[in-house]
Amino acid sequence: MVQFSRRQFMKVTGSSLAASSLAVMGFSPTAALAEVRQYKLTAATVTRQTCTYCSVGCGILMYSMGDGTLNNKLSVIHVEGDPDHPVNRGTLCPKGASLLDFVHSPSRLQYPEYRAPGSSEWKRISWDEALDRIAKLLKEDRDANFIEKNEKGQTVNRWVTTGMLAASASSNEAGYVTHKVARSWGLLALDNQARV
Ligand code: SF4
Repeated sequence: MVQFSRRQFMKVTGSSLAASSLAVMGFSPTAALAEVRQYKLTAATVTRQTCTYCSVGCGILMYSMGDGTLNNKLSVIHVEGDPDHPVNRGTLCPKGASLLDFVHSPSRLQYPEYRAPGSSEWKRISWDEALDRIAKLLKEDRDANFIEKNEKGQTVNRWVTTGMLAASASSNEAGYVTHKVARSWGLLALDNQARV
């Protein structure tokens, strides 16, 4: 006679019971085991983006998940290289591959902030306030300092008291338009974060 320890007895009777109960309910353990495991990102929302870090401008895919309820905010859960992007063909360097940490960093600046002269406090402001303020200060400075002619009387149309730093994550088209706008104002000091 075969001898069972208490542990072996529980194992054998437990698995037989589970198998017979599943069969009664119409489940086939064989079919279940043969099923292809679902890709973990299938239900995620995919957003195409450009890596924020350098001038290479690699394409990335950002996967976000939420619970689908009203007012629920999606959260980025995975970032990988975009295989269809002509620049990187799905690859990312270590900096780009760690973008998820950057996205969720508690110190990432997400809103415009303003620090008044003499104050040590940064105050959060709306995008409208920020853009209005930038436009107003640009105009004031350009009106006061625009140079139409140099000392020889030659037309130069330059504005050298303000500079612009453009973003490296811009597309070629956005970069082209940014350059045209800045130069049309007479700005000489125009650079791009991609060179940093
Ligand atoms: S993944 Fe690396 S190489 Fe590509 S843009 Fe980002 S920092 Fe530059």
